[in-house]
Amino acid sequence: MAKEALKKETVEELIRKALEARTYSYSPYSHYEVGAALLSKDGRIFTGCNIENAAYTPTICGERTAFFKAVSQGVRDFTAIAVVAGPAGALGELPLGAPCGVCRQVMMEFCDPASFLIILGATPEKYEVYTLEELLPRGFGPKDLEG
Ligand code: ZN
Repeated sequence: MAKEALKKETVEELIRKALEARTYSYSPYSHYEVGAALLSKDGRIFTGCNIENAAYTPTICGERTAFFKAVSQGVRDFTAIAVVAGPAGALGELPLGAPCGVCRQVMMEFCDPASFLIILGATPEKYEVYTLEELLPRGFGPKDLEG
């Protein structure tokens, strides 16, 4: 989807769902709470939060939780994801938190880098929108393995 085609109402809904998902963040170690809301091409929204672990490496980000929930339910085509993040308990206007490199790579697996949109939300009304290509230039994806 082109950035211009993204409706303000859609962005607000995605950010609100991401904020709701953020309330479920399990982050007793970093105290950094993340929520995500992933919009599929058929109009469904899959949410996720970060889930940490005492052994550290099993920890997963909110963005990947949302992707893996969708893919595990048979959905592989996506339009946009909203991400909200901030210190535990932070309310109101949040600092913009961009997806980590691992999450960008997972997006690269399932999304067209030129058209998949990543919304970084501070509030439902205040946000920035990037294409995956902007956040992961020259990303490596399935097309690179095609003979
Ligand atoms: Zn991540």
